[in-house]
Amino acid sequence: MIIIGRLVRFLKPFVVQAGVSIVLGVAAIATSIGLLGTAAYLIAQAALHPSIAELHIAIVGVRFFGLARSIIRYLERWVSHGVNLRLLGQLQRWLYRTLVPLLPARQTLLPSGDVLHRSITDLENLENFYVRFISPSLVMMVTTIGMVWFSGLLSPAFWPWVAVGLVGAGGLTPLLVYAFQNKPTLRQVETGAALNTRIVEFIQGMEDYLLYGQEDFILAQVERLESTYHHLQLRRAHYRGLGDGLSLAWIGMTVWLVLWFGIDPVARGEFSGVLLVVLVAVILASSEAVSAILQGAQNLPLALHSARRLLELEGMASRVAVGGEVKDKSVVRRPDILVRDLSFRYAPDMPLVLDRINLSIPFGYHIGLLGPSGAGKSTLIHLLLRFWAVEQGEIYLGGVPLANWDEETLHQTFMVLEQRPYIFSETLRGNLSLGAPQADESQLWWALEQVELADWARRLPERLNTWVGNLGLQLSGGERQRLALARVFLSEAPVIILDEPTVHLDWTQATRITGRLIAWAERRTLIWITHLPYGLDWLDEIVVLRQGQIVEQGTPQELEQGRGFYTRMLNLARRYANGFAA
Ligand code: ADP
Repeated sequence: MIIIGRLVRFLKPFVVQAGVSIVLGVAAIATSIGLLGTAAYLIAQAALHPSIAELHIAIVGVRFFGLARSIIRYLERWVSHGVNLRLLGQLQRWLYRTLVPLLPARQTLLPSGDVLHRSITDLENLENFYVRFISPSLVMMVTTIGMVWFSGLLSPAFWPWVAVGLVGAGGLTPLLVYAFQNKPTLRQVETGAALNTRIVEFIQGMEDYLLYGQEDFILAQVERLESTYHHLQLRRAHYRGLGDGLSLAWIGMTVWLVLWFGIDPVARGEFSGVLLVVLVAVILASSEAVSAILQGAQNLPLALHSARRLLELEGMASRVAVGGEVKDKSVVRRPDILVRDLSFRYAPDMPLVLDRINLSIPFGYHIGLLGPSGAGKSTLIHLLLRFWAVEQGEIYLGGVPLANWDEETLHQTFMVLEQRPYIFSETLRGNLSLGAPQADESQLWWALEQVELADWARRLPERLNTWVGNLGLQLSGGERQRLALARVFLSEAPVIILDEPTVHLDWTQATRITGRLIAWAERRTLIWITHLPYGLDWLDEIVVLRQGQIVEQGTPQELEQGRGFYTRMLNLARRYANGFAA
């Protein structure tokens, strides 16, 4: 019920159109009933050989209802599908607004196949929630009341049977169908999501699966999930058939009861035979409303489960920071960064990943964030980028709490090169100009020169317009890294964050490209994340992070003279380097 309430809130902006479509839905059923009623009257009356004048009104009625039925049904479909599509648009906008802040932080918790399933299949399941459920339920209610009123008008003997029949067919049967469908539907949604996740994972990790000879194992898993999925689909179809049959039985029983109690009075001349025929015909006509609500009940569990999965995202988003209002572009052109007493854990029951971090990065500073893997370097950066909400301590950007900055300004402030940069299934040009749509041809080539990819690009069949392949998989690790670095050179952001930028490059090339980066970033803040302690003499300051705490901090020269963790790491690295050289 809560879920239905939360879904209906999406309807708020279109409440007038929704109301119109329900009125049209009732009118469509009313014209169907009117058509069958007047047609039955006409046929039954005609059998008694009256004069044509007596049939005139019925003939006009049949003509009117016949025409009106098609027109009203057309209008009803038009309006209700309009509401449906707008509702879907609303849901899509809501989903993307929820996913945008959520995904960077929760990528690890939401496998990509699962996100795909939520954004396509779950939304599709919801699409028909309004047209297939809300509207038919209301139409069924009004139809039942109208039919009971009409049969009561004909004779008080009939209305209880009509009430029982329609409540049975349009109320109890859909409830039963819903109760039976609920469990297999839940399992079908979950199995479908698991199947999607498995397939996407299989495609993404194909190389490793093949390498480790795991393809049969994965395929067997996919097949098992697929067969469960089809089995559940069959079970749902089975219940659907039973529901259809049951509702027909209710309607049939009502017709029988009406005839059973009506024939005697007709034989005795207390009730008109023609009206009895009309009543039977309109009861049969009202089954149109019944079949719509049955379809709604069959889809309801699917829509509710999908809705639950989608609304679950809102709960997950609660720990992710949302955008503020401040938009002072002049400050973020030269922002100082201040981190004060920052502590962070990923979940309440998990250990601290960052423990009372204090850090000041004036604008234009080149700072190194050094520490072994798992020290909390990426976490600190992700908090700076507001992927997660800061709960203990504060981060200020240009003197303003990070939480107060609006999303767009924040994105324009930072340029980040992640450890595993993402290359899009795009052309070389598309990949380069991603963050710099203003860059012209010469700037693109200049950026490629900086990362020593220009010669390679000139040899490509269509140069900048060459397709770099699915997710850049046809590029080598070093090429991918340099392509991502070229994007950095095109950025206009004042704060550049580079996570192990030279990791896939050979030493001499890494040195050359680093030199160019340092010169390019002269008037910007540069945060250089690494786990290797050498080649960092050019930095203004190095912050050494270990197990979530800052254990050392100072200029490279100061740190080298000390006897702390940095010196130990440096000595160890030198010993290894010498060992390799020997
Ligand atoms: P570094 O970048 O220094 O290698 P990270 O900041 O990535 O370290 O990770 C610090 C710790 O936080 C690690 O123990 C890691 O397992 C954990 N961690 C990182 N991301 C998540 C996450 N999304 N959920 C839970 N724990 C995480």
